[in-house]
Amino acid sequence: MKDLTINFTKLNGLVPCVVQDARTSRVLMLGFMNEEAYQKTLQYKKVTFFSRSKQRLWTKGETSGNFLELVDILLDCDQDTLLIKANPKGPACHTGADTCFNEKNDHWDLSSLEAIIKDRKANPQAGSYTNKLLESGINKVAQKVGEEAVELVIEAKDDNKELFLGEASDLLYHYLVLLTAKGYSLNEVLDVLKKRHSK
Ligand code: AMP
Ligand code: ZN
Ligand code: ZN
Ligand code: ZN
Repeated sequence: MKDLTINFTKLNGLVPCVVQDARTSRVLMLGFMNEEAYQKTLQYKKVTFFSRSKQRLWTKGETSGNFLELVDILLDCDQDTLLIKANPKGPACHTGADTCFNEKNDHWDLSSLEAIIKDRKANPQAGSYTNKLLESGINKVAQKVGEEAVELVIEAKDDNKELFLGEASDLLYHYLVLLTAKGYSLNEVLDVLKKRHSK
């Protein structure tokens, strides 16, 4: 990580820092760094601010253990704001929420579904189809993936949007159950895809 040229003098000593989850891109919190906090962050790879209320250096997580492990720092267009990419070791907000910005939770993606499937695996629930699948064993789950793929192939030949999207969803769901049953994560798949892309 290269040392950025931040004009702390122009900023009256404090640069505002937007902290973003390096993996999910969610905005986690905002804090201020003075020069010392910035250098300490670079040195120890744990995001450290200058707390305006405490009037001292504050390493996020110093009491809660919810450190923000530094991944990258970017300077904005006019060198007066930092974007910090970090891996949160726990909830970033002191309220216990993942982020200080309570966005309406309409965010839904494959990771959300994966998280639910992983949770079912860890905490089985009566009547859960996911648990029934997981308990049937890896071969059965793999077979279901094959069946859903064939069903999608069949729907691809027709023009029924609803049926096609239904089978496309079935396939993704069963695929994620298989990954989970095998003990792997979507991230590991994405890593492989990313490496292929950078070749
Ligand atoms: P921590 O840095 O997580 O160990 O928390 C120490 C103290 O810092 C908390 O008791 C809060 O007063 C404050 N704090 C922690 N996280 C935040 C946050 N995201 N925004 C503002 N204050 C925070
Ligand atoms: Zn700016
Ligand atoms: Zn907060
Ligand atoms: Zn199906």
